[in-house]
Amino acid sequence: MNQLRWDPTLREWVVYATHRQDRTFLPPAEYCPLDPTKPGGFPTEVPRESYDIVVFENRFPSLVSDAPEPEEAGSPLTPTAPGRGICEVVLYSDDHHGTLAGMSEKRIRNLVEVWADRYGELGSVDFVEYVFIFENKGEAIGVTLHHPHGQIYAYPFIPPRPAKELEAARAYRLQNEGRCLHCDLLSHEHEDGRRLVAKGKHFTAFVPFYAHFPYEAHLYARRCAPSIADLSRDERWDLARVLKQLLMGYDWLFGFSLPYMMVMHQAPTNGEEYEGVAHFHVEFYPPNRTADKLKYLAGSETGAGSYIVDALPEQTAEALREAVEGAYS
Ligand SMILES: [Zn+2]
Ligand SMILES: [Zn+2]
Ligand SMILES: [Zn+2]
Repeated sequence: MNQLRWDPTLREWVVYATHRQDRTFLPPAEYCPLDPTKPGGFPTEVPRESYDIVVFENRFPSLVSDAPEPEEAGSPLTPTAPGRGICEVVLYSDDHHGTLAGMSEKRIRNLVEVWADRYGELGSVDFVEYVFIFENKGEAIGVTLHHPHGQIYAYPFIPPRPAKELEAARAYRLQNEGRCLHCDLLSHEHEDGRRLVAKGKHFTAFVPFYAHFPYEAHLYARRCAPSIADLSRDERWDLARVLKQLLMGYDWLFGFSLPYMMVMHQAPTNGEEYEGVAHFHVEFYPPNRTADKLKYLAGSETGAGSYIVDALPEQTAEALREAVEGAYS
C-alpha cells in the first residue's frame, strides 16, 4: 500500500508505505542481500558472482510506478493521491565492507556517471517531478543494511525541502537582477575563505555559514549547472575527486567511518525552466557533534523547525579542512 496524504497545515504530502515494516533489518554479514550471489550460496539481489556498480528497483519501495488510487479518499481539505514514483537502490561496490570514502576515484567517477544517467532516465518519466539522489550511512541514521549503497527516489512532486530552496533562489533572482543565489553564496565563501574545506578544479566543499549540523558540508559546482546531467566530463571527474576528499576528511577527523546523510539538490524534472535557479550541489549532514555524541532532532528542531547548533561553522570547517589535508598527506 503506497499512498500520499496532504497535510494542509504545512502544505506538503506525507508518503505512506506500510509494507516497509517487513523489510530486512541488519542481517548478519554472511546473509547480506546486496552481496554478489556466490556459487552454491543463497540467492541475493544480484545473481552474479561479482559486480561493479548495480542499480535495481527497491523491493520495499516507498513509492511505486503503478500505485492504485488509494482506498481512503480523504476530503477536499485533506486529499489523498496514489503513492506513485520509482525507488531505486544503487550498489556502489560488491565489497560488503567498502565505503564511498574508501573507494577509488575511478569507481566514484563511474558512480557519478550512473547518478547522471539515472537522473536523466527517471526524470524523463512523465509523472516524475523530482529525482532525489541520496545516501543514508551508518546505524546512527537508521540504516538497515551495511553494504555500501545509496538510493534514488523519483517523486511525483517536488519535495518540501528542495521546493523551499528553489523558491528562495527564485525570489533572490527576481530581486537581484537575475543573479543566482547559489553562485553568490559560493563567491562569498571563496572571498571569506574561513569555511572552505576542499577545492578542486570545478567543485568547492565548504561548511555553510548557516550550517544546521555541526559538521554539515556542501559541495557546490562552481559553474551554474542546474543538474548532474549538465556537468561536463571534466566536472564529473572533479566531483568524484572532491567528494572523496571530503569523505576521507570526515573519517580522518573522527577516526572511524562517519555516519552521514548525503543528498543532492538539483533541477526538478517537471518540464519547467530552472536555469539560474537550480544550481547542482551535494549536502552532507553527519549526525555527530563529537566522536561519541550525536545531535538529535529534538523539540526545537522537529517541532519548531529551529536548529540549535553547538559549534560554529568556522571552527568545524577549520578542523575538517585540516583533516582533508591530513588524509591526503
Ligand atoms: Zn553486503
Ligand atoms: Zn548558480
Ligand atoms: Zn541545497
